[in-house]
Amino acid sequence: MKFISTRGKDIAKNSAEAITKGLASDGGLFVPETFPCVYDKIEKLLDMDYAERASVVIGSFLEEYDSERLLSACQKAYSRFEENDPAPVVRIDEDLYVLELFHGPTLAFKDVALTLLPFLLREGASICGIEEQILILVATSGDTGKAALSGFQDAEGIKIMVFFPSEGVSDMQKLQMCTQEGENVNVVAVKGNFDDCQTAVKKIFSDKEYEKILKDKNIVFSSANSINFGRLVPQITYYFSAYCDMVNAGEIELGDKINFAVPTGNFGNILAGYYAKQMGLPINKLVCASNSNNVLTEFFANGTYDAKREFYKTTSPSMDILVSSNLERLIFELNGRDALITAKQMQELKEKGVYQIKEEQLEVLDREFFADFADEEEVMQTIADFFEEYGYVLDTHTAVGINVEEKFKGFYEDAGKTIVLSTASPYKFPQSVLKALTGKGVGDAFEASKKLENLTGMPMPEGLKTLQNKKRRFDKEIDRNKTKEAVDEFIG
Ligand SMILES: *Cc1c(COP(=O)(O)O)cnc(C)c1O
Repeated sequence: MKFISTRGKDIAKNSAEAITKGLASDGGLFVPETFPCVYDKIEKLLDMDYAERASVVIGSFLEEYDSERLLSACQKAYSRFEENDPAPVVRIDEDLYVLELFHGPTLAFKDVALTLLPFLLREGASICGIEEQILILVATSGDTGKAALSGFQDAEGIKIMVFFPSEGVSDMQKLQMCTQEGENVNVVAVKGNFDDCQTAVKKIFSDKEYEKILKDKNIVFSSANSINFGRLVPQITYYFSAYCDMVNAGEIELGDKINFAVPTGNFGNILAGYYAKQMGLPINKLVCASNSNNVLTEFFANGTYDAKREFYKTTSPSMDILVSSNLERLIFELNGRDALITAKQMQELKEKGVYQIKEEQLEVLDREFFADFADEEEVMQTIADFFEEYGYVLDTHTAVGINVEEKFKGFYEDAGKTIVLSTASPYKFPQSVLKALTGKGVGDAFEASKKLENLTGMPMPEGLKTLQNKKRRFDKEIDRNKTKEAVDEFIG
């Protein structure tokens, strides 16, 4: 299958090329030429385990990959999750379910894709005959960084460099990244917010001259951000898998429509749900849940994407984003796959910080999505209420999803069943969660975690406990216009 750029000036001849390149050379994002109808195979998927389902969903796009090798890579990747299940569905009440995506090595949903991406990338490089060393540059709002570092640690022929906003991640997230082991890794804090990091990294990607210089050093770039289709495609699986589990558990009948509510930042996770729908999955609405950085809520309400606004640092830092990269893929579909219009809109976003869609396009969006946001007070209240009512501990991001799901139900009373995607363990943000539950602040992350354990009975994950005694390896902080120099220093 070919992959085309949303901006029309680049084509990848197959998925392997799209994945190894990461970003298209015209600055656009690669999208599949068509969406295979995986729902045709739903009867078969019902009887499969998660890794098998993943190999079917992913394999439907990655035709050039050997299917047996893909299956065994999925099995290996997903054996790193608790009980070999990256996506258990937990029933809260008859209409509400939580899809727990945080049982992987770094305790956020990014693990579902990033435990598998090293295989997709290496295999892709071999299919494309790439012999150079691959340098992966990552901009992270907190969770991608650690999940990518963990996935790529000591991967042969690959180096990875992570940029995170110095003040924009939680203590636990920072500690997770800065203690990362491995010979091939590097982590740098950038002064500024996530958007600054993402812009700086994208700029390096589209720097043709720099690309040539690196090529002479036998190095090519790739990306582990959700701009890379290889990051996105494993995320489609859990929408299908959750649906199958609901059918198998007798919660729904095959063919019934359900809703998914997704705490959203860069629009990668929810876009995977939109893709699942294009592949036949019976989804009613996709609920786009934002925090106080509610640029997407406004976009879905009035059709204007306006990134020129105040940036808020919230308790859900992985969603503190004003320029949601993956929205470009949705806009491309909305434009009837017209790359010229899409490229123009993205140019406007870059130059003026704002672009618009048409009234009739807004109506199309309204049929597919519901969008709203939760402010900081609502997030705190939701965590407290949810624990009191169900004894279930939400992290700050998932709380945004739950809060907006409640607004969704208030708006569409007969909306039916909704699955809320739970994107992180509460122990990645223990101070905020503890404060929500007790009203009292505790400064130290480990002290807060201990208190949270005592209060809730939910055990702190081992992967975070051991951080306390790990050596900090990285503590460099740079200006955002010095990212290229930092890359130079890393590769030598
Ligand atoms: C990355 C992240 C999100 C946002 O996901 P996008 O794909 O960027 O929309 C939400 N919650 C957590 C915990 C995350 O790490």
